[in-house]
Amino acid sequence: MTLADISRHCYELTQAYLGAQNASSIVQETQEAIRETRAIILTEVFSRWSPLNGEISFSYNGGKDCQVLLLLYLGCLWEFFALQVSRSQYAAAYQRFPLQNLFSVYIDLAETFPSLETFVDETAARYELSLYSSRREHGAQASDMAAAFSDFLERYPETQAILIGVRATDPFGETLKPVQKTDKGWPDFYRVQPLLHWRLAHVWSFLLYSGEPVCGLYEHGFTSIGSVDTTLPNPHLRGLGETAPQHKFQWEVEHSYGIAGSGINARPLDPSDVSWLAALGEDKYLPGWYLTDDSVERAGRIKRK
Ligand code: FAD
Ligand code: MG
Ligand code: MG
Repeated sequence: MTLADISRHCYELTQAYLGAQNASSIVQETQEAIRETRAIILTEVFSRWSPLNGEISFSYNGGKDCQVLLLLYLGCLWEFFALQVSRSQYAAAYQRFPLQNLFSVYIDLAETFPSLETFVDETAARYELSLYSSRREHGAQASDMAAAFSDFLERYPETQAILIGVRATDPFGETLKPVQKTDKGWPDFYRVQPLLHWRLAHVWSFLLYSGEPVCGLYEHGFTSIGSVDTTLPNPHLRGLGETAPQHKFQWEVEHSYGIAGSGINARPLDPSDVSWLAALGEDKYLPGWYLTDDSVERAGRIKRK
C-alpha cells in the first residue's frame, strides 16, 4: 500500500464507524469522541500547520492510543487531500497524493518488549511512517524523553507540532489541553493532544472495529505497555482465562472493517515474550480489551528493583 491507499482506507473505516446506527452506547460515545478529535485535527491543526512539509510530526510507540490517533490522523490527511482536489482547477485524475511517508518519531528509551518492537516496525511499514528512532541508551530513564526530543528537533528543525496519543486519564493528563506548548525543560514545540477526552472503552471500540493489527501483548492481559522492567499483565485480568466471559465489544468484532469473516487481528507474540510470560506462572490472563475501567488501566505497571 502507499500512504495514499492507507490514508483512504483509514478515512473509509472511520466513516463506516461513524455511520453505524443502533449500536451500543459505547459506540455512540466513541462516535462523538471521533468527531471531536477530527475537528481538532482538521480545523485547529491543519489550519495552523501544514501536514505536508514536516511542520507536523507524530509520536508513535506502537501503543493502542497512538495507533487509534494514527488511524484518525491518516483519515484526516485523506480528507485534507480530497478537499484540495475539489478546490483545484485541475481534474482529480491529474492530482497525486502529496506525501509518500508520514513524519513520525519513536523514542526507544528503555528495554522494550520484542513483540512491541516488532509491532512498531510492522506498523511503521503498514502506515508508511518515516519513523525517526532515537538510539536506546543503557539505563535510560523516562525523564530522558525530553532530551531525546531535543535530538529529534536538532535533526528536524522544521518541526512545529507533534501529535501525542495521551489521554486525560493518564498520569498528569487531566490538566492538558488539545494544543499547547511544551513545558519548561522540554524543547520548544507545540504538543497536539486530540485524544484527551477518550476513555479506555472508546479506544478498544474503535481499534477492534478497525480490523487493524493490534500488538499481541494486549491479547495476553496487557492494558498499558511500558518497559520490560516495569510492566506485567494487568492483575485485574488474572486467572479469568478459563471462564471466557463476554467482553463489551462483540458488535465491533462482528462488524469489524476489512477483515473477511471478522475477528481480532492481534499479532503473534515474539517467542522470547512467550517464554517470559510462561515464567510468570500458571495464571492465564484475559485480553486487555476485557478491562474498561480507566482507573486500573495501569495496574500492571510496577517498579522492579
Ligand atoms: P502512553 O499511553 O504510553 O503514551 C502516551 C502517548 O505518548 C503515546 O500515545 C505516544 O503518542 C506518546 N509516546 C509515549 N511514549 C513514546 C515513545 N517512547 N516514543 C514516541 N512517542 C511516545 N511531558 C511533560 O511533562 N511536559 C511536556 O512538555 C511534554 N511534552 C511531550 C511531548 C511529546 C511529543 C511527547 C511524546 C511527550 C511529552 N511529554 C511531556 C510526556 C507525556 O506527557 C507523557 O508522559 C509521555 O508521553 C509518556 O506517556 P505514558 O507512557 O504515560 O503513556
Ligand atoms: Mg496510553
Ligand atoms: Mg508509555
